[in-house]
Amino acid sequence: MKRLSATVLSFALSFLASSSTAGGNASASSSSAPAIFGFRDAAAESATEARFIAVPDPKLAEEHLRILTQAPHMAGTVEDKATADYVAQKFRDAGLETEIVEYRVWINYPSEISVDMTAPTGVAMHGPTREHVDKDPFQDDPRVVMPFNGMSPSGDVEADVVYANYGTPEDFEKLDKLKVDVRGKIVLVRYGQNFRGVKVFVAQEHGAAGVIIYSDPADDGWKRGDKYPDGPWRPDTGVQRGSVGYMFEFPGDPTTPGVASVPTLPESQRISAQKSAQVPKIPVTPLSYHDVWPVLQHLSGPASPREWQGALPFTYHVGPGPAKLKMHLKQDYQFRTLWDVIGRVRGSELPDEWVVAGNHRDAWVYGAVDPNSGTAAMLEAVHGVGVLLKSGWKPKRTVIFGSWDGEEEGLIGSTEWVEQHESELANAAAYFNVDVAVSGPKFGASAVPSLKQFLRDVTKVVPSPKGGTVYDAWLKAAQPDASSTQSPTDAIGESRRLPAAQMKGEVPVGDLGSGSDYTAFLQHLGVPSSDVSSSGAYGVYHSTFDDFAWFKKFGDPDFVYEQQMARVLGLEAVRMADADVLPYDYEEYGKEIAAYLDAAHRRGEDKFGARVLDFGAVNNAARHFQSAGAKILAKQRNPPRNAARLNQALRGAERALLMPQGLPHRPWFRHAIYAPGEYTGYAAVVIPGVNEALDKGDSERARQQLAALATALERAAKTLEGYR
Ligand SMILES: [Zn+2]
Repeated sequence: MKRLSATVLSFALSFLASSSTAGGNASASSSSAPAIFGFRDAAAESATEARFIAVPDPKLAEEHLRILTQAPHMAGTVEDKATADYVAQKFRDAGLETEIVEYRVWINYPSEISVDMTAPTGVAMHGPTREHVDKDPFQDDPRVVMPFNGMSPSGDVEADVVYANYGTPEDFEKLDKLKVDVRGKIVLVRYGQNFRGVKVFVAQEHGAAGVIIYSDPADDGWKRGDKYPDGPWRPDTGVQRGSVGYMFEFPGDPTTPGVASVPTLPESQRISAQKSAQVPKIPVTPLSYHDVWPVLQHLSGPASPREWQGALPFTYHVGPGPAKLKMHLKQDYQFRTLWDVIGRVRGSELPDEWVVAGNHRDAWVYGAVDPNSGTAAMLEAVHGVGVLLKSGWKPKRTVIFGSWDGEEEGLIGSTEWVEQHESELANAAAYFNVDVAVSGPKFGASAVPSLKQFLRDVTKVVPSPKGGTVYDAWLKAAQPDASSTQSPTDAIGESRRLPAAQMKGEVPVGDLGSGSDYTAFLQHLGVPSSDVSSSGAYGVYHSTFDDFAWFKKFGDPDFVYEQQMARVLGLEAVRMADADVLPYDYEEYGKEIAAYLDAAHRRGEDKFGARVLDFGAVNNAARHFQSAGAKILAKQRNPPRNAARLNQALRGAERALLMPQGLPHRPWFRHAIYAPGEYTGYAAVVIPGVNEALDKGDSERARQQLAALATALERAAKTLEGYR
């Protein structure tokens, strides 16, 4: 999954003073090797890392990708199981203790899906919706699943159509102003700007009877560039599948919030899918622009606001009607088996402290980019770890690689595993995610602030195919002149939310919202997490054309970015597993939170006027947290011989930011600083309790959430001070 667009939220974000170069200041290393933050003996660690970096191999990554994508492998199918077996074998070959873990989860496959235009008479849709281009070696496989939306209910609806642009709350407000009523209508929205589940959630709130989501050529088709197979952009018949589950309520199996769906779970511990807050109440299905063309063309009513105009060659009107659609959706919902593959290397000194790296393996169809560019990279990272193990390397902490299943349906494999291992993960040092590892050459990363400098440091020792290091290329692309042109993938796009004012001369590391498998680790359990990718022009997301042929032609023909991402992911795990002192930077974290609070304070004053909300206590708590972060950072730079207490304090800090009661109305999400927005989906909302209360104009709730946030920040500050 993991895509969808960088809707820019209004809170101004942080920016960080450049002083917090945690790795820049030397630790007490006696050797001449450059210091590595967190290590007493940088020379030994550098030697280990150099041996690791030499291993990941472009040719082998290509072979992994070719094998993983030889057949469609949607979660729960026999082909999915075959990919699990392949990954498990590679894990074992590298010397990892390996198991395939099963879960029983409630998901749908499509059984009958049709959308017909019933008015005006004499106009037909272009259908059928089968995806087809002139030349593609994979498109005719009968196992390609027909386009559908995961977690849509079954349903039959016939109604007039209303066009609602991207289906944001603001778009629906505009329809209200135009006096266009969507109640009982089929709402037609385009992909982009927000998570598709949010479009459905908002349409449902407004009383729509059904939703069609289509890909407009303005967003990822011909308006962007040549379409597949001549170029990387979406062809006329390309359809974006995807889950519309309300994952911002809770992710994972919709029938087991907070509980692992192990095969032995008694029925009595499941909730009914009909009652699950994750499952939409109205039917939803996706279409191509080829199919939607005559529908949009036959809408009358007011002309749409000009920014709603897509790239089809006529003026878009909002309706309602006269175009009328008949949706017939029959979903085959069942409890199906998923397979996570878990490989582990036991830590030699701190076996109970887990460092987890993971990627999902299931795909809507072939999934060459999403997700198996990540799987191929992860397998080459595992290859590197295997070579280290054979040379006698023993990680201090336990290293675990997870190949998650069912991510596309709702982050299911990772969420169930996290829920199953909640107590062990209480000691985890980090979770490193990769989903779409490679769709092009532009490196990007998101992380909790405590890991941002760690990521910058890791990329400083990984070579870039462009010459220099990954960090150099990243920094070059981040310079103001380069970043002012929008990345070509943004519209479909990467959901990295970047600090509005970036640290001068430093690379931007985004914030984690949701949309991939770090969600349960970070937002349910408070495990410090990151996500990395290398992106480019990519218009075949979640279509059958995201296949090996596309990848070889447009994604990474020589697999050198695959090699790069294998090195980055593997090095994150190796370095974190070996560190004497955990290389977190809680001063940078504190600065970011202070900036979030400043922005929220201004929003609060705009909303309610001055002095309605008292930010005194929470600002004090944030200052306390930041100064505790600065003090422990000084200690980390000069670590004591026995760093156990220091590490314990560091490990506890992120977890101390969890609020036991969770966010209002969605207790599964417990992190006080980051959550997926209820109205943004993938994109992060920062200090979500406070900001969402402000969105709602609820000053009482804002007061409660400010108090809960202050408590969490004080708890985290005291945790950081606990090493003394
Ligand atoms: Zn994905």
